[in-house]
Amino acid sequence: MIETREQLQKLVEKVERKIEPVIKNIELQCEKNSEKVLTAFQKYQITEAHFGSTSGYGYDDMGRDALENVFAHVLDAEDALVRAQMISGSHALTITLFALLRPNDILLSITGKPYDTLDEVIGITDNNSSLKSFGVHYEQIDLIDNDFDYIKIGEVLSQKKIKVIEIQRSKGYSTRKSISIEKVEKVIGVIKKISPDTIIMVDNCYCEMVSDKEPTTVGADIMVGSLIKNLGGGIAPNGAYIAGKKELIKLCAERLTLPGEGREVGPTLGINKSLYQGLFFAPSVVAASLKTAIFTSALLEELNYDVEPKWDEKRVDIVENIIFKNPNDLINYCQGIQIGSPIDSNAIPEPWNMPGYQDKVIMAAGAFTQGSSIELSCDGPMREPFIAYQQGGLTYEYGKLGVIKAVERLLNIK
Ligand SMILES: *Cc1c(COP(=O)(O)O)cnc(C)c1O
Repeated sequence: MIETREQLQKLVEKVERKIEPVIKNIELQCEKNSEKVLTAFQKYQITEAHFGSTSGYGYDDMGRDALENVFAHVLDAEDALVRAQMISGSHALTITLFALLRPNDILLSITGKPYDTLDEVIGITDNNSSLKSFGVHYEQIDLIDNDFDYIKIGEVLSQKKIKVIEIQRSKGYSTRKSISIEKVEKVIGVIKKISPDTIIMVDNCYCEMVSDKEPTTVGADIMVGSLIKNLGGGIAPNGAYIAGKKELIKLCAERLTLPGEGREVGPTLGINKSLYQGLFFAPSVVAASLKTAIFTSALLEELNYDVEPKWDEKRVDIVENIIFKNPNDLINYCQGIQIGSPIDSNAIPEPWNMPGYQDKVIMAAGAFTQGSSIELSCDGPMREPFIAYQQGGLTYEYGKLGVIKAVERLLNIK
């Protein structure tokens, strides 16, 4: 039993010794991704002029255009769209789906039900503006034992013409495991053999730079992520990216702005430098988030809580789950994360009805950027088995301090 700060401090020291070898691997990964970013900056000869800004239509924004080339290089993609006009990851996913799908087309998810915010986008929950309302059909194949159902995927692809397959790597608010890049590579091989024209779209939120390959490295046609997660490095003030095949990125650009103007418009209003700097810091910030997640996993396991992934498991994303199995522990832990944050540390979060989510959600995020979850944050829907989804940490030291505060509140250590 841990009852005092001194006992907790001893346990923290023990945990840090235990996780040392895993932390070393994270640093090696960070080095590889840093090299990729640095090479891209040098290849496109980024200079101070790229930090300039446009207003109005945003024609000829050289900083924006070069940044999109840099992103494409880092993600091993033909092309990329990186825009502040995309509000969030969900918005970028919505733009991509509406850009690729036409009436009577079929969208097939092969990772079970997609992220909660897509329910109304797809039409799983009724909405007059959904894909369904435009006559786009949706089908879903659930995972079995945290892997793809290859038999069902083969059956569906040989029976019907599937326009877009969605693969969501990170678990969202589900209880499954996240999908490794090796599994993504394998399933893409199988899909392309049966149905080479099906577009494979990957929701890559929270997974960027966790390994040294991205979905577009291993054959995905298009992928999507948020800039207030991994690739914004905690510095991007908002925005999202879409990366992949050139002709698909063009469709997305024309959906984001308008047919005929596409990527040529979109003022940057002074944020170019932040987006460059965010990408520059992203490998280190992702590494700090991973270290914080590993520390959390090992510490909470020592305290006899169920955690996923375990501290020494190979990681796919920056998310750590603590399965609390009761609402009070979930609420206390999240409140502790808030109290341990630099911003709004005096606020006490409570579960609330967030737009786009079906259950009440408790969200702790004492972040410099509203909703930024590359900064230490913790949230969870108020439903069984009361799982905390913790992610982020701009530096390991701040991440660790926040988690210790959360554990103090959880264990009622004064
Ligand atoms: C965070 C996330 C999204 C997008 O969320 P936004 O808050 O809209 O950026 C989509 N899918 C997954 C799996 C996510 O984790």
